[in-house]
Amino acid sequence: MSETPSSGAPSAAPYPYEAPVSQALFDRAAAVTPGGVNSPVRAFRAVGGTPRFMVSGQGAWLTDADGREYVDLVCSWGPMILGHSHPEVIAAVQDAVARGTSFGTPGEGEVALAEEIVARVAPVEQVRLVSSGTEATMSAIRLARGFTGRSKVIKFAGCYHGHVDALLAAAGSGVATFALPDTPGVTGAQAGDTIVLPYNDLEAVQEAFHRHPGEIACVITEASPGNMGVVPPLPGFNQGLKDACATNGALYISDEVMTGFRTSRSGWYGIDGVVPDLMTFGKVMGGGFPAAAFGGRADVMAHLAPAGPVYQAGTLSGNPIATAAGLAQLRLLDDAAYARVNAVSEQIQALVSDALGKEGVAHTVQSASNMFSVFFTDRPVRTYEDARAQESYRFTAFFHALLANGVYLPPSSFESWFVSTAHDERALQTIADALPAAARAAAEATPA
Ligand SMILES: *Cc1c(COP(=O)(O)O)cnc(C)c1O
Repeated sequence: MSETPSSGAPSAAPYPYEAPVSQALFDRAAAVTPGGVNSPVRAFRAVGGTPRFMVSGQGAWLTDADGREYVDLVCSWGPMILGHSHPEVIAAVQDAVARGTSFGTPGEGEVALAEEIVARVAPVEQVRLVSSGTEATMSAIRLARGFTGRSKVIKFAGCYHGHVDALLAAAGSGVATFALPDTPGVTGAQAGDTIVLPYNDLEAVQEAFHRHPGEIACVITEASPGNMGVVPPLPGFNQGLKDACATNGALYISDEVMTGFRTSRSGWYGIDGVVPDLMTFGKVMGGGFPAAAFGGRADVMAHLAPAGPVYQAGTLSGNPIATAAGLAQLRLLDDAAYARVNAVSEQIQALVSDALGKEGVAHTVQSASNMFSVFFTDRPVRTYEDARAQESYRFTAFFHALLANGVYLPPSSFESWFVSTAHDERALQTIADALPAAARAAAEATPA
């Protein structure tokens, strides 16, 4: 991986132009924040160059500190499904802010958001609001262990469930990008009850249940993984997990932090219909604010404090601004909105595949509803190992050529791309115009 050049470094070939204001901000940030960022993938380490500091967002567009505009294909890693600064979401936030920012008491907004989630996602009978996806998965796992009285957890290589100690093994995405198979600071005891299996491999799951009878509390999986790039479950995989859990007295936890309320009005559950015992949500449901949730079977959720003995809490859980934003966003996400996002996604997938095909670049575009990503390999990607076998150096060249021409992709080849209802003709045309040069750059790229 290339190191980020400091200001004054020659702007060499891979970085087609400089971003002096972003670079100055990044230098300031690096002095006071590790690596200059508050979440690792933002630092551009996988692709090199200067991360763009954004100052505003409107619809499908972001504006950086140097005054350049980009079509945003990250959408804050999924949440901004209506685009940036949607007037009705902003109005709901302004209305909530005017009434105060946090009370530390129950409030109507959190009831309404919980009702909206329960109404949309049939397997969720009861739901608890938290502030991040990490908290949601951490709490769901604690609850599964408390409910079953068992210790072990099965997860899959390449699935990311937030930075929960026990789940930071073969965790895809940011972790994949940095090739940290295990992070220092997670003890053997914390990770020792985690069983990591290859994705899309039901036989491995059966074998694990066979080897550990009566010990496995739950299987947690991304409903359709997006954190190793988009790698959908093979037909029958999620149902097979559910059946294996039911047979062996374990809980099936579907992590829909990324797919929830994005891939359909009831998330991936709305697509494959497999009924989880517990589910986790985040991203879209917060409308760009820190709101997340976990929920599921009422008899399991009844074990949660104060109804039951499994402790879980949060000072800002159900925050009135976050719940107002999330509720406003969910209420705007009707069938027409999903049809629009899906159509935009299909158009961009076709543009990308066409441009890469014209330059003879080996690639595979994989999608799960409107989530999609481009792997630089001509083989289908079904596991984390498959994802890692792609020619990531081609992505680096592709990424920088698009960035130079006003298209902002996730700065890693192990991420889903995200679109919104606000991606209009102008946005699509900008992408179409930028793609030929980017495809050529990918074709000409050589391994570092
Ligand atoms: C983003 C994500 C998380 C973590 O959510 P944070 O809000 O970043 O803590 C967990 N699971 C999945 C599937 C995610 O995509």
